[in-house]
Amino acid sequence: MHAVRSTVAPRRETDPAPGAPSRRALLRTAGLLALTPVAACAGATGARPPAAATTPPRRLPPPRAQRARAPEEPDAKPPEPAPGPRTTPPAPPPPVRTRPFARLPRAGHALALTFDDGPDPRWTPEVLAVLAAHDVRATFFVCGRQAAKHPALLRRITEAGHLVGNHTWDHRRLTGLGRAAVEEQIARTSETVRRATGRAPAWFRAPYGEWDRTVYTLGARHGMEPLAWSVDTEDWSRPGAAAITRRVLAGARPGAVVLCHDGGGDRAQTVTALRRFLPRLRADGWDLVRPDRRLTRGAAR
Ligand SMILES: [Zn+2]
Repeated sequence: MHAVRSTVAPRRETDPAPGAPSRRALLRTAGLLALTPVAACAGATGARPPAAATTPPRRLPPPRAQRARAPEEPDAKPPEPAPGPRTTPPAPPPPVRTRPFARLPRAGHALALTFDDGPDPRWTPEVLAVLAAHDVRATFFVCGRQAAKHPALLRRITEAGHLVGNHTWDHRRLTGLGRAAVEEQIARTSETVRRATGRAPAWFRAPYGEWDRTVYTLGARHGMEPLAWSVDTEDWSRPGAAAITRRVLAGARPGAVVLCHDGGGDRAQTVTALRRFLPRLRADGWDLVRPDRRLTRGAAR
């Protein structure tokens, strides 16, 4: 299903090449990465770091992006000098996995709603409004390029209690990229989210569900666990609100992770479906939760 999506994904319509960020912007981001104070990164997941987290993370060599910093950039200096270079937000980094989580471990009678490919100024606010109306929290896997254009929207997401995950900078198929390019896709997005919301993402989702060892390794180095999904609504293909609703309700299981989209094209059907399936899930006793990093510790890799 991911292969199909890769050829017809509607998000391509909204991927203007001229919007690609400049090398200068990249260097500025890299400079900030190098100067990020440790204190600003602590507790990024909402999960308590384990006891080992008190060890300063100086063992890791700085990623390449740090060496690309441009100190001459006028706005590249945070107010306080950092005690040491640090780019991996939640400490310590999670283990390097060999597969993504497709379900939430130990979730009980709960499932997670996830929205990919935003933030989108047209559709994300509508999704947020429906979630708020039902007092439900979700996770938004954003693309860094979109996030950089709409930082206020990103803050609205987190201020409403939702999580923001990393979905790469511009939705590349990572398994076709070299290590440096994957690092750039991940690092720039995490830093963009951190700058907008104060917290770097604790979860990563590879576009098209395509993972490999490099992706797992670099995701972990940036402090993120990989999250896939167990219920694909295929809402990107606009199958109708009824079909989206039916797929969500049929896929409801303890720990299920539901994949929807708030960006990448016309998401009216997704919003309509959300209005339909949320009250039914709640009526059936389902909790809608955010993935919890405390529950992934000790999970098989
Ligand atoms: Zn996507």
